[in-house]
Amino acid sequence: MPQPRTPHPAALQPSIQLIKQVLTDALCLLLPIQCAICAVPDTRLCRPCEVQLEAVGDSGESFESPVDLDFPVYAAASYEGITRTALLSFKENSAPYLKRVLGAMLARAIDEALRIHSGMTLHCVPVPSATEAVAKRGYRHVELLLAAQHPRPEIYRWLVARRERADQVGLTSVQRRQNARNSFRVTARVGSRVSVREQNDSRPLAGKHVLLVDDIVTTGASLTAAAKALEDAGARVVAAVTVAHTPRIFA
Ligand SMILES: [Zn+2]
Repeated sequence: MPQPRTPHPAALQPSIQLIKQVLTDALCLLLPIQCAICAVPDTRLCRPCEVQLEAVGDSGESFESPVDLDFPVYAAASYEGITRTALLSFKENSAPYLKRVLGAMLARAIDEALRIHSGMTLHCVPVPSATEAVAKRGYRHVELLLAAQHPRPEIYRWLVARRERADQVGLTSVQRRQNARNSFRVTARVGSRVSVREQNDSRPLAGKHVLLVDDIVTTGASLTAAAKALEDAGARVVAAVTVAHTPRIFA
């Protein structure tokens, strides 16, 4: 008796695409969506906004941020206009689908840092958000930006947020530094075989070169606090990269 033939997976592709499209259209009717940037309906990120974001940071200008820290900070864009709107949506309005386009911007800053600091192995260490912010958002936004890149850089989760701290928004640069101080500690387990507790080693990151990764640099208070925790554990922070930098705030 002839067996019913199973269609080849490739033959299913067009119908799966069609079903996806029909379901997306139906969802749009039930739950109206709009572009996270310009609010045009029926799309989460419209093509013109996407193109504009893709062009940000591609001007060929230096990525080095004006912020004055012990290490250089490379940022793909200034925190204004479409970049600011996109980052706010990504962080505050649960728009994780902006990860690809913002991740591409971050990748350009990382490429710049790797080009300038070539000749050493840099470990990408994301600056962690406060636990409460991660729970509210539903994702670790800096890690999401790194994970969205192709090729995906290896992520070293060496830092953890030590305690809850007040939101940095609205604070002067002095207040930001005080607020950020001691915000981070190096995790007890910094690698599959390296453990601070097991080895009773106070400098488990000795010899490691770090590229700190964050979304925005304002005064650099968070980056400085993160760098201190890593350097206390023996690492050397070579540079930091962010999607955007704000104009320096004097206080
Ligand atoms: Zn748009």
